[in-house]
Amino acid sequence: MTSELAGKTALVTGAGSGIGRACARVLADAGVKVHVVDRDAEAAVRVAGEIGGTEHVVDLADPLAPGSLPGAVDILVNNAGLQEIAPIHEFPPERFALLQRVMVTAPFLLMRHCLPHMYAQGWGRVVNISSVHGLRASAYKVAYVTAKHALEGMSKVAALEGAEHGVTSNCVSPGYVRTPLVEHQIAAQAKAHGITPEEVVDQVFLQRPAIKRLVEAEEVAALVRWLCGDAARSVTGVSLPVDGGWTAQ
Ligand code: NAD
Repeated sequence: MTSELAGKTALVTGAGSGIGRACARVLADAGVKVHVVDRDAEAAVRVAGEIGGTEHVVDLADPLAPGSLPGAVDILVNNAGLQEIAPIHEFPPERFALLQRVMVTAPFLLMRHCLPHMYAQGWGRVVNISSVHGLRASAYKVAYVTAKHALEGMSKVAALEGAEHGVTSNCVSPGYVRTPLVEHQIAAQAKAHGITPEEVVDQVFLQRPAIKRLVEAEEVAALVRWLCGDAARSVTGVSLPVDGGWTAQ
């Protein structure tokens, strides 16, 4: 059966790894031509090769980068992100600014770049990979929580402005997903607390969700795929947690 997305074009940021790679794969499987955007050249080339996409090696911390990417896309997945952990009084200001540039300014600039094409054709999908930390706070994650809350707001504004043009904008907000970003955090916390990685997962990462396992990147990508399809044409301006019940309590 032909997918309703066949022949469409998507731009997925941070598509060289983790959730972005899973999104790029699921969209390619649906017949979408995917622009694989990442600052990691090797990863971008590898994923583009795997899915028959096109790699674009840029650092999204650079405000000129979004304008250098293709703007005539039907689907924009703002996914690239990074984490930094420290209490506010010790948080490096330049790291705070970097997280805002990559996770807030770049999505804004990419929307600005891609929406005119979507508006002109009367159809488009913006999916923003937020986090439970777009909806809830955790100590020591000030830059990340600030950026994801901002992304949630930006996504709603895009939903309101895009509605009359056939463009939806939504957030997908995962709990802890098994990706390199989280594997690094597990290793760092194990070292800091003097416990095993398994104990970190059980005692730290799975403390808040009701479902006691890490989310898989493919589960997040499946929801992104659904938001891009016809079945989700009336879904806009929302944030859909994939968090094992974390935000339910
Ligand atoms: P990841 O580290 O596996 O992948 C992130 C990708 O983004 C990498 O390929 C990296 O090279 C790229 N990237 C980072 N900074 C970039 C920049 N300046 N320019 C271009 N590319 C850049 O991480 P992930 O876990 O797949 O995270 C993807 C998104 O999902 C992030 O926005 C993250 O905040 C969000 N998220 C992750 C989790 C989780 O538990 N893993 C939970 C909630 C939300």
